[in-house]
Amino acid sequence: MKKISLLFSLFFLVSCAYESNKELTIYTSRQPQLLEPIIENFYQETGIKVNLLSGNAQELMERIDIEGDQSKADIFMTVDAGVLWQAAERDIFSETKSQILEENIPSYFRDPNGMWFGLSKRARTIVYSNDQFSDTDFSSYEDLANPKWKGKLCLRTSKKVYNRSLIASMIDAYGFDKAKEVVAGWVANLTTEVFSNDTNALKAVSSGQCGVTIVNTYYLARLLDDSKYDNLKLFWANQDSRGVHVNISGAGIVKSSINKEDAQTLLEYLSSEKAQDFYASANKEYPVLKNASIADSIKNWGNFIEDDINVSKLGSLQKEAVFIAQEVGYK
Ligand code: FE
Repeated sequence: MKKISLLFSLFFLVSCAYESNKELTIYTSRQPQLLEPIIENFYQETGIKVNLLSGNAQELMERIDIEGDQSKADIFMTVDAGVLWQAAERDIFSETKSQILEENIPSYFRDPNGMWFGLSKRARTIVYSNDQFSDTDFSSYEDLANPKWKGKLCLRTSKKVYNRSLIASMIDAYGFDKAKEVVAGWVANLTTEVFSNDTNALKAVSSGQCGVTIVNTYYLARLLDDSKYDNLKLFWANQDSRGVHVNISGAGIVKSSINKEDAQTLLEYLSSEKAQDFYASANKEYPVLKNASIADSIKNWGNFIEDDINVSKLGSLQKEAVFIAQEVGYK
């Protein structure tokens, strides 16, 4: 009898182990509805069930730290290379070596140490009101520091990682002093207090409170669903120089995961053509995979040259970016 129950419990353990191999958990700051259809397709194709635990990126990193080896997280997925870089600094990820990921994702959208991978591109560029200006008035982010824009510029707060990453890209391109000069010029040109989000900055441009701002394109795409905001026009910044500032959403495999192989299969799936179209267009972002199709609603903005700085530098230069913002009073 003892033998039978031992056998039974062994069988139970083995079947549990098998089951757990076919289930993954993603801790993510992305909205679940952006991911649910893709993980359902992934399940249909592979039999691997994916659970989502969503929340604030900082809190999720904290949680992974506290849970340690007991963490259920197999993948940590978030937005902004600055945050992914922080996660790697906190030693949350393990290194992933995958030819598929290397082929599908340009090297500058991946961590040089293989800890995390970009899965969609988020372009941050100039948006202006065509009641006041036209395309020929604009050239670059740096030009918005020119006194000719005094009282015309609206910006989101520098406390948002998106702007810190943009400043970091300028530090990388021109050095600390020149980047500081540009940000000081922006501050001098501000029409009003900084905004808490991109959408409010866009609305201020549309209403005529200011003439130009810098935002992630998907916020503009969302507003343009409403014809009320038809006077907002996108301008691809820095096309004659380093290209548009591009950030990513991305993910890496968590160090404590016991399902690393399946987790890698999922990351590879997310970088593949069938998932890229959908993953990027769900939030009106751009795919990282060349030739994956772009959401219809953003196609008319055309192609753009992008800054090919390795996005991990947006993380490593983050502290200096914060310092610049404080120094010049960019709140
Ligand atoms: Fe956003």
